[in-house]
Amino acid sequence: MTVVFRAEARRTDVWQRIGTWLEGHQRHIRRTQWSMAAVYGALLVVPALLPLPDHTATLWNNVTRFAQFAFWGIWWPFVLLSTALVGRVWCGLLCPEGSLSELASRHGRGGAIPRWLQWPGWPTIGFAGTTLYGQMISVYQYPKPALLILGGSTAAAVAIGFLYGRNKRVWCRFLCPVSGVFGLLAKLAPLHFRVEPDLWSAHQRSGRPPGTVNCAPLVALKTMRGGSDCHMCGRCSGFRGAIRLARRSPSHEIIYVAGEHPKPWETVLIVFGLMGVAAGGFQWSASPWLISAKQTVALALIDNGLIWPLQATAPWWVLTNYPAGNDVLTLLDGGLLVGYIVATALVAGTAIMALLAAATACLGGWRAQRFHHLAQALIPLAAAGVFLGLSAMTVTQLRMDGIDLPLLLPVRAALLALATAWSLYLAWKISGLYAVSSLARGGATASVAAALAVADAGWFLLFWLW
Ligand code: SF4
Repeated sequence: MTVVFRAEARRTDVWQRIGTWLEGHQRHIRRTQWSMAAVYGALLVVPALLPLPDHTATLWNNVTRFAQFAFWGIWWPFVLLSTALVGRVWCGLLCPEGSLSELASRHGRGGAIPRWLQWPGWPTIGFAGTTLYGQMISVYQYPKPALLILGGSTAAAVAIGFLYGRNKRVWCRFLCPVSGVFGLLAKLAPLHFRVEPDLWSAHQRSGRPPGTVNCAPLVALKTMRGGSDCHMCGRCSGFRGAIRLARRSPSHEIIYVAGEHPKPWETVLIVFGLMGVAAGGFQWSASPWLISAKQTVALALIDNGLIWPLQATAPWWVLTNYPAGNDVLTLLDGGLLVGYIVATALVAGTAIMALLAAATACLGGWRAQRFHHLAQALIPLAAAGVFLGLSAMTVTQLRMDGIDLPLLLPVRAALLALATAWSLYLAWKISGLYAVSSLARGGATASVAAALAVADAGWFLLFWLW
């Protein structure tokens, strides 16, 4: 037992030392951030100035193909994965948008943060809006849409940084379209900056100087209990002798912290955003239902003498329009694409919400707090689904260059099965906090299992059936 305890203490010290190292090497971190910003800028701007790659272009001989793979094949899926593994390290140590926004805030107007900007729905609306718009203009396939969406987001981050806060990341905390998703995934990370309330109080009583720390994403350090808002920058490591980088169970925050302050917008993001809009965004181009719908609508339009929606197109920044590559969406295509994604979000989201409501009812009648807490149990599967959807892009791009990844389907099945089992375990544990009987707990968990089956069905259709 003593041996186990000592081994544990040594491991804990390693994490604490890493936190202390981060705190003492902020200058190095900033240099890394500027290097990252330079690479990011080059990969974003240069391909948009070059002609589109022809069929002989590969990842290894064409900047545009390489940038496409770097952004959507590597960066996006693996930033999501890293957030679930080590928290928001990407945000705090590497993200060019965050560092540029903080730099602008250092030299900007320093205004007070207005109330409208603090509305908790922005990250959810931003995520759904950019996902939908990205599909309309084929952001994963072409450099100009990537420049428009990512560059536009960076410009907005700098503008918000310039206008509000001093040395802060107001954009990242309240407006970034992916901050909501990162915040959800960080709850699964087995690492976090832990605040020890006893040590904090002891420091206050000791009469030692309080000291200061600049937490750029505006986390209330004293009351921080989870990793959702923390960017893992390490600046507060050792603050008042009460904060340190530490290990935790990857299920701890969802079971024991997430239920204390229910966040309805997080529920909307999980259910309608990740399991709805994002899933629909990955599915539409492979869906035979969309093809049938298009044939039906096209025939109906022709029968009524309305030909123009089948022929009219829009500029590339409204709907995909690359005639040279034979890749053009008509107004009918665009309308059906948006309709498909919205319909997927509404159908899957409503079914999942109804099953979560049934699970809540099993626990002794309607309680909004329990409903939102149960929704948090879905995070592992929601995250795994989005990772698989994005990594399908990695697979497609590698396949274009003749590289086939082995065991793709078994790995996908294993990941979905593991994530489903983890979500189910979380639902069981959360239900246990509220249920008055085993029957109630079992009923609630079974309802959440049905909600998970709805989400799994979408991935089954995409990866195995279509
Ligand atoms: S709480 Fe703030 S200062 Fe501390 S590591 Fe997280 S982001 Fe950095």
